[in-house]
Amino acid sequence: MPGYNRHRIFNYIIFFAIVFVLYYKNIFSFTPGMLLAIGLGFYIGTEFLTPDLDTNSTAYKRWGRLKILMLPYKWLFTHRKSSHDILYGAIVRILYISVIILGFYYLIFKSLPQELDLSPVYGIIFLFGIISANALHVILDKIM
Ligand SMILES: [Zn+2]
Repeated sequence: MPGYNRHRIFNYIIFFAIVFVLYYKNIFSFTPGMLLAIGLGFYIGTEFLTPDLDTNSTAYKRWGRLKILMLPYKWLFTHRKSSHDILYGAIVRILYISVIILGFYYLIFKSLPQELDLSPVYGIIFLFGIISANALHVILDKIM
């Protein structure tokens, strides 16, 4: 089973290789905003919202004091079962953290955000970054 750092190295090598090939082969040209959105999503997906939040992993411990927020997730999901589904696992984690963020937002502002001043394209690219990082994690788990 690959460890936390092996997952990180694998993810970043694949990410940079794909971005490099897409850019230099003129297959896809990223605007700086798109690159930032996918890079941020990929970083969060690699470092914090990984499939290994379902166990007492380094990724789980990286949450520091906030790891208490991930405790229900850890209790709900058996290690390497549905949390390690290539698509479903990432979507569940995104929904899980979204509910927590919206909950805190509601506690602070006593209402939910009405609209985001962010282009939906960047939001989709950001989510794609998280989902891609999770997919690479699952792929490495399956091949090693
Ligand atoms: Zn894993």
